[in-house]
Amino acid sequence: MEQISCDVLIVGAGPAGLGAAIAASKNTNVKIVCIDKKDKLGIPVSCAEGIGHYLLESVQIKLPKTILDWKIDGIRFYADDFCIDKVGDLWKGYTINKPRLQQWLADIAEKKGVKIFLSTELLDININENLIAESCVVDKAGVKLRICPKVVIACDGVDSKVLDFVKPGRKEEILAKVLSWEITGMKLAVPNLEQIFFGEFAPCGYAYIFPKSKSIANVGVGTYLPKKKLETYFDEFLSLKTVKCQVGRPKFISEKSGTAVIHREPIFEFGNILFAGDAANRNIKPFIEGILPAVISGYVAGETAIDFVIKSGDYHTKMVSNMKNFYDVSDTTTEIMLDIFKLDSKKRALLFMALSAGIFDFPDIRTFYNKDCSEIKRIIAENV
Ligand SMILES: Cc1cc2nc3c(=O)[nH]c(=O)nc-3n(C[C@H](O)[C@H](O)[C@H](O)COP(=O)(O)OP(=O)(O)OC[C@H]3O[C@@H](n4cnc5c(N)ncnc54)[C@H](O)[C@@H]3O)c2cc1C
Repeated sequence: MEQISCDVLIVGAGPAGLGAAIAASKNTNVKIVCIDKKDKLGIPVSCAEGIGHYLLESVQIKLPKTILDWKIDGIRFYADDFCIDKVGDLWKGYTINKPRLQQWLADIAEKKGVKIFLSTELLDININENLIAESCVVDKAGVKLRICPKVVIACDGVDSKVLDFVKPGRKEEILAKVLSWEITGMKLAVPNLEQIFFGEFAPCGYAYIFPKSKSIANVGVGTYLPKKKLETYFDEFLSLKTVKCQVGRPKFISEKSGTAVIHREPIFEFGNILFAGDAANRNIKPFIEGILPAVISGYVAGETAIDFVIKSGDYHTKMVSNMKNFYDVSDTTTEIMLDIFKLDSKKRALLFMALSAGIFDFPDIRTFYNKDCSEIKRIIAENV
């Protein structure tokens, strides 16, 4: 088997892996290899491609306007017969083209000397008794190759193979299944608002319409406790009155389904392996927003990898201090979401909407669990 050495091996060329590649390549003496099993960057897409404006400042690589395709002024929330609009700083953002973002990041990384190997899948990691990953076996377009890195950065997403080696048989995870399509020919009621729907068509989750233009949107349903096929939920969602009149006769352009992490104990590092992006549960709840958090956490991992190569780094402290406020809120939100998911469906939809739209302060929301729906609606209406 052919063997190569490098300083940093990045597994996964998603937003996290490419953020890591750019950060690590700040040190031009370091040899970086980034692998991805896909043959085209970011394709197929598993994403609704919405990004929050509030996170842009935290991204260490300034995104050009050309990446920010479609402006979003806020979010319209629906639950039962209720509808709330939230606009302004926390709620505005953009819909992007995720593969184009990845290509833009990859171009920067390659110009700085990073070798990106597509069609290259991680198969095996040899971890020694000191918990150091000494070598990785990959399948590079049908040929086995051994890569010997000093540091591995695991950015291989929700189904992280690296995590399988480090923490086999993970049981405490909660993963949501999402069925999503890019649909064209729509007559969007509010083309500059994302629309999020809570109800039985997405039990313990939500359905969404994320506009990409006046007539094109990413439309999906996500749930972690499906009792029916996702296709059935999707059809039920499309047949809602408020949705049907916007969708018309849908023309499905491309499927963008996938799995999203709701809960997973985050692992930041294991020996000489650093984790970032979805592999480290770096998305932000309740919306499971992961694109920019992946770039941000990947970047911190890339910087830390260089510290590892040169001396030693303290990845955990760096990662936590970088976005501590967001993750504190996200962790509390996850706890409350999991409580709310145990309630009956109508109350669940209302309270999940109230939580997502920031209607109640965190401790207060628990006091509503025992109230009936009409009371909850009245209080939501008073607090909008
Ligand atoms: C349907 C859906 C909708 C979503 N919508 C949004 C949204 O609107 N906004 C938002 O911010 N977030 C959204 N997310 C979440 C977001 O897509 C992820 O959080 C984000 O992509 C994580 O980035 P990442 O780089 O960690 O992982 P990924 O983008 O998943 O990239 C991981 C990469 O690793 C590669 N890989 C995996 N295994 C291997 C292996 N063994 N060898 C080599 N390569 C490997 C994969 O091919 C992939 O390219 C959504 C998720 C889903 C499923």
